[in-house]
Amino acid sequence: MAGKRYLMTPGPTPVPPEVLAAIAAPVVHHRSPDFRPIYEECLGRLKQVVRTEHDVLLFTASGTGAFESAVANLTSPGDRALVVSAGSFGERWAELVHLKLEWGATPEPAELREKLEEAGGAKVVYLVQSETSTGVVADVQALAAVAKEAGSLVVVDAVSSLGAVPLEADAWGVDVVVSGSQKALMTPPGLAVASVSPAALEAAAGSTTPRFYFDWARTRAAQHKLDAPFTPSVPLVAGLNVALGLLLEEGLEAAFERHVRLGRACREGAKAMGLELFSPDEDRSAVVTAVRSPEGIDAKDVVRLLRDRFGITIANGQGPLIGKIFRLGHIGWFDVFDIATQLGAVELALAELGAEVERGVAVTRALETFADAARV
Ligand code: PLP
Repeated sequence: MAGKRYLMTPGPTPVPPEVLAAIAAPVVHHRSPDFRPIYEECLGRLKQVVRTEHDVLLFTASGTGAFESAVANLTSPGDRALVVSAGSFGERWAELVHLKLEWGATPEPAELREKLEEAGGAKVVYLVQSETSTGVVADVQALAAVAKEAGSLVVVDAVSSLGAVPLEADAWGVDVVVSGSQKALMTPPGLAVASVSPAALEAAAGSTTPRFYFDWARTRAAQHKLDAPFTPSVPLVAGLNVALGLLLEEGLEAAFERHVRLGRACREGAKAMGLELFSPDEDRSAVVTAVRSPEGIDAKDVVRLLRDRFGITIANGQGPLIGKIFRLGHIGWFDVFDIATQLGAVELALAELGAEVERGVAVTRALETFADAARV
């Protein structure tokens, strides 16, 4: 069918029709009774999704904006911060002290403890929950506990994981959760969130780094009056509100379980056709499945063929993994038939590129794995 497109990257992700309809509604004024109930509901729903009693600040920006806010508000020149990285996004946040692991590694709490001791502590520890470039989902609960023990504030990049895998801001002692609208939150790109604990706000009050648009105190004070400090993307807030409603209606636990099953189905299907996984073969890896391209086949050609022949957009490898892996996304508005579509197309593309893949088994294996409730 000419023109049919499938968006199957780990962000941006497909947007449900209800959300698109809300975005298409006539624009209302952000300082009017038309907008305030939407804003209030959206901010309340965000707290439920982040699982916090404290404020979740909403910015019109991509996820990086909220992350920058967590640097500008929490650190002053000369402060020591520790970034745990094991892939593209962690490396992006690297600051003065950097616990740099191999791409694809799973950060271990013991390594973090050792690094903090060696560095003499750090004011802030920045963690990535889902390293979208490798498919690894870190055990943020355990890592946050180590950082807290060392007296650090904990910031978690949950850009690709919020709404897909469990994250309990308050219960796990995470001071700041940063995320974006365009991944498991099923909304187009353009909104970013940062939850802020009382300790994070206290640190922000003492931080001397200049900031204006991303100043937490300014945004928080305005949000308390349901009066955005700057003109927000009204349509995106309306869309995010509907998307969060859908997520909460499904139930967070049910959504997490669906993502676990989608991840399993994708991995089992890929393995059934004889492919080797790059991302870990574990339930936590429920955001994106990174698959090694077969020997002699450039992953970029697989991605290109899927796009040009079938209208399917999957993701390439990043950095040192370009050409070596391709990534199949499964966050947000995804069901098992989306996994079947991706696997079926990958099988056809690889066969066309001359790879020796087992034909006709991947989709069936994926469907069976998804249906296998006994293993849940
Ligand atoms: N962190 C992670 C884990 C991501 O996956 C992304 C985007 O892919 C980002 C940060 C950057 O977010 P954005 O592109 O919304 O600024």
